[in-house]
Amino acid sequence: MKFFDSLICDTEKLISSFPRKSFRNDIPWSDAGQLQVIMRRDTAFELEGVGFNLVTSREIPDEIILIGDDLGEIKENRKFARIAVVQIEDSGDEQKAYNLIKKIDYVKYHCFPDGYMMRSTSRSHKEAVRVSKKAIKRKANFQNIGSLLIKKYKEIPAVKGVKLIFITVPEADYPEAERIAEKNYEITETLNHIMNSVTFDCNTCSLKTVCDEVEGMKELHFNKSKM
Ligand code: SF4
Repeated sequence: MKFFDSLICDTEKLISSFPRKSFRNDIPWSDAGQLQVIMRRDTAFELEGVGFNLVTSREIPDEIILIGDDLGEIKENRKFARIAVVQIEDSGDEQKAYNLIKKIDYVKYHCFPDGYMMRSTSRSHKEAVRVSKKAIKRKANFQNIGSLLIKKYKEIPAVKGVKLIFITVPEADYPEAERIAEKNYEITETLNHIMNSVTFDCNTCSLKTVCDEVEGMKELHFNKSKM
């Protein structure tokens, strides 16, 4: 699976000019086990931006990267981005890989870090987080929240490694993070079309721009349509 690799390079470029903190994923935060509602009066601050996964079969060691302030240093609402680069087992079966991408996307709906309420809608890369005052008092930080998230990703047996990047620095290029997220969504939608459509006519297909850009897409659909 290499369809998202150029977006992984774009993500590296996005963060390359900022100092980074790197953490191990060995202190998981507690999981509330179900959807929790944090009321406004109990909220320390909100983070708003994008949250998405970039899936690859390249080797990705587990790691949490923070660009900007940690939770305990943030005093007011701000923009943010959460990008998970996820290594999956390379089975050579694109249908399996596509199913995995969907499964990996559902992780965000099954992870409930205590005092860290993540909100996102299906078919959207937008992510908003409400952090409770209590969680800040209990020293919630991106290392322990990230550790819990990585643990959840790795409950899927085919997930081999996860690099989780949190960006909170105000000077980051958030429109570029949004562009990467949108492109990620377009490629996933094109894969969806390829997996589910036997029609192979690039001249009339609305997804042509994606297939012209991403190496291997047309070959995949061509091979699929011959099956
Ligand atoms: S390969 Fe052609 S027909 Fe298939 S999704 Fe891409 S543009 Fe459309």
